[in-house]
Order: sequence, then C-alpha cells, then structure tokens
Amino acid sequence: MIPDRAETVQRAFQMVLRGIGQHRVAEVFNRGGVPVFGSSSRKAPKHWHASFIFRLMVNPAVVGVFIPHRNDYVNGKKTRTPMEPVQGYFPAIIDAPTWDGVQALVMGGGVSAKRGRHAKASGLVNLLAGLARCPLCVSSMTLVNKGAKVERKLVCSKARAAAGCKYKSVSYPTVESALLNQIYWLLNDAPAQSEEEARIRRELDSVDTVMDLTSEHLRHLLEAVEQGLSTPAVQERLRTTEAQLEDLRGQEKALRSRWAAVDNTLLDYKVNRVSDIARGQPLDRQAFNAALRGLFQAVVIDYQRGELVFQWIAGGQSEIMYQWPNE
Ligand SMILES: [Zn+2]
Repeated sequence: MIPDRAETVQRAFQMVLRGIGQHRVAEVFNRGGVPVFGSSSRKAPKHWHASFIFRLMVNPAVVGVFIPHRNDYVNGKKTRTPMEPVQGYFPAIIDAPTWDGVQALVMGGGVSAKRGRHAKASGLVNLLAGLARCPLCVSSMTLVNKGAKVERKLVCSKARAAAGCKYKSVSYPTVESALLNQIYWLLNDAPAQSEEEARIRRELDSVDTVMDLTSEHLRHLLEAVEQGLSTPAVQERLRTTEAQLEDLRGQEKALRSRWAAVDNTLLDYKVNRVSDIARGQPLDRQAFNAALRGLFQAVVIDYQRGELVFQWIAGGQSEIMYQWPNE
C-alpha cells in the first residue's frame, strides 16, 4: 500500500498548530510507524527527526507553491540557486490559515520552539563562537547582552567598535534553535568530495524529484478510484504509475549504495562527530562548537535573507533558514 503523505503532512501541521513540539511530533510518528520522507540523505533514514518535521513546516509545496532550484556542481562543489516560485503548482494540502498559524509558531521562537527539547539549552557557550560572520563586512559577529534577563544578540564586531559597519542585532536564541532543529539536515548536505560523488548526488536529486511527482500523481489516481471513477483507462494508468514508482525506488536504492561506497572517510568522521554530540543530553556546548569548527570555516548570519550560510571547509556551502527574510 502506498503511504498517504498528504495525510501525514496534515497530521504534523495539526499537531504543531496545537503547540506540540517538532521533536515530540517526530516521536509520535516513529512510535506509530509512519514511513519517513522529507530528507534526501546519504543513508536513507529510518526514523523521523525534529529537523524533518521543521522542513515540512516551512515547505511551501504544502500550500501548492513550487520553488524550483538549480543545482550547479563546479569542481565537486554544490551550489543551489532558488528560482522564481510557481503558485498553484501542486494541489494545496494545507489551508492558508493553518499554514499562517504554523509559520508564526515555527519561525522565530514561537510556542513550539520554546517547548522544544532545546528550551533549556541556556548555557553560556555560543555554539557559533569563532564562526559567526557579518553578511556586510565579513567581520565576526559576537554576543551582546550577556546578562541572564535580556535576550542575547549577535552583532557585527566592527559595528560595535563604531568602525563603519551597520549595527544590526540578531536574536541569538532564534539562530541557535534553527541550528539545532536543522542540524541533521545540515550534516546530510555535506559537500561532494569527488566528481563521481557529485554525479551520483545529482542523479539522486533528480530521481527524488521524479519520485515525489510520481507519488503525487499516484495519489490523485487513487483518489479518482475511491470516488468511483474507476475506468479501464484509469486502471491502466494506475498500473503503469505504480510500476514507474517501483522502478524509481530501485534506482534510488542503487544510487544510495553507490553513494555509500564512495570513499569519504575523514569528512564522514567529522560529520558523525557533530551528529553524536548533537544527540547528547544535555548538549555539550563546548564540544559541539569545537566539532562545528572542524567542519565549517565560517557561518554568515545573513539577516537580510533570514539565512545562516554554512561554509564547509571541504568546499561549498549550505543554507538554513532561521526567520523569514526582512523580518
Ligand atoms: Zn559588519
């Protein structure tokens, strides 16, 4: 039986809207045996993570909007360029009030972020110490408001010294919770280390896209059948679509094992180290920061676009969103 992704997405939205944390939603799904989707990681994940739930919550595809991305690989370095959004590309599975309500909660430290498991991560170590950079002048961004009662902010060190940059403060807790919520996704986005790996990942990206569209198509056909529109033509299309999907799954599996076989030992070791520390309760903040520094040379706090731009030492960069642009 084909799992109904739309239903899973709707359940996740309803739970988050009721104030249930993303970590808890992932737990409930794991316990209920809900099949995982929403990640194109190196090794197909078997379990839901809070980061997958987060990515569903901010994915405009659920309200019908498609944002095509162009993947470019230059010397094995990947860059992803978002293109013009296409409204109404997918059938909307989440209504506008639900979407808006959830955006208000998940972006910028709403109820779910505060109830999340990282709520108590109030230690004093800045997880991005030595890494955070100003988007305008590339100087360090450091913490101000170190007292317990005031929200801590990241500010460009050049601006603090009145040396000519813009004084713009960014909420540190918001940045930190985005980082911790999306850390597994970020780690899965580690750069390709060879042309061979880049080619495999490019193929995997396109197989995953075609699979998503094919599953969507299948879902519509099944709905048609449920509504009694079961003509021989529909049945025939159902058969061919299921066969296509089966074929795509085979291709995906083959690509993933080829990817896993590509030699990438040192980078894998460093990625696993961050991932292990991230799972620790309570979080060892010092170790986490040190391990991040082993992977990234800088993290640009691009407050104009609402993104954290992680620059991999191994080449290339990955962006995670921490708030809507120009908030
Ligand atoms: Zn600056």
